[in-house]
Amino acid sequence: MRWKQPSSLFRTPGDGQGPTAVLDVGPDGDVALEPSPGEKPREGDILIGLYDGTVWYARPVPTTPAAVTNFRATPNELIATASSLVRWHASGPRCEQCHGPTVMEFRGQRRRCTECGALLFYRTDPAVIVAITDEDDRLLLARQRAWPEGRVSVIAGFVEPGESLEQACAREAMEEVGLALTSINYFGSQPWPFPRSLMLGFTAIATDPGALAVDGEEIVEASFLTREELASKLGAGRISLPGPASIGRALIDAWRG
Ligand SMILES: [Zn+2]
Repeated sequence: MRWKQPSSLFRTPGDGQGPTAVLDVGPDGDVALEPSPGEKPREGDILIGLYDGTVWYARPVPTTPAAVTNFRATPNELIATASSLVRWHASGPRCEQCHGPTVMEFRGQRRRCTECGALLFYRTDPAVIVAITDEDDRLLLARQRAWPEGRVSVIAGFVEPGESLEQACAREAMEEVGLALTSINYFGSQPWPFPRSLMLGFTAIATDPGALAVDGEEIVEASFLTREELASKLGAGRISLPGPASIGRALIDAWRG
């Protein structure tokens, strides 16, 4: 995964721009590994964009195709966009103005209310993920309650109404591990279509690492580790890190150097 790179997906290709391909997408958002051979786009297909010289479409199908992938396994923009848009349309969102039914239009790039005509666009839920270090440059790794023993990552949480991203980092750190933050700096971002998040990565320094105290609700274990300690625990199989496609892993790897 590359970070802070410009998109290679051109989202609004005109008609007649070269070859097309159609990817089946199951109801749970898993995307067929390969485009359907010889299939041409038809009514109801969703335009994904121009990618690798081909105009790609997603076709919602009622049963999951035999060979599929998702963003965790194949972290590219084509997969994220296909999965996100198909599930959004399948959810049949109501109009935000009058709660009337909406229909897909403009090849799936938006929906329109059949009652009042208001337009709906896909939205993402911003979430912050923050790598916290102490004055000795040790990294805080924490285990969420829902995770198996030994699985750790940096902390994360959704942005709440009225918050800046930096405020969200500070609040999550205080709530989950009792730490106040300084030097909160942007790292990079990643779509996370499970179902529709945008992960915004930051680094930060804990002002008083001694105050570390897990909330016991969302986070059940947390500690600051040196690079040597992390390598040793990994080598012994005592802890595991998030998958290589995730921004959580990218934050950890950037710190490891
Ligand atoms: Zn309406």
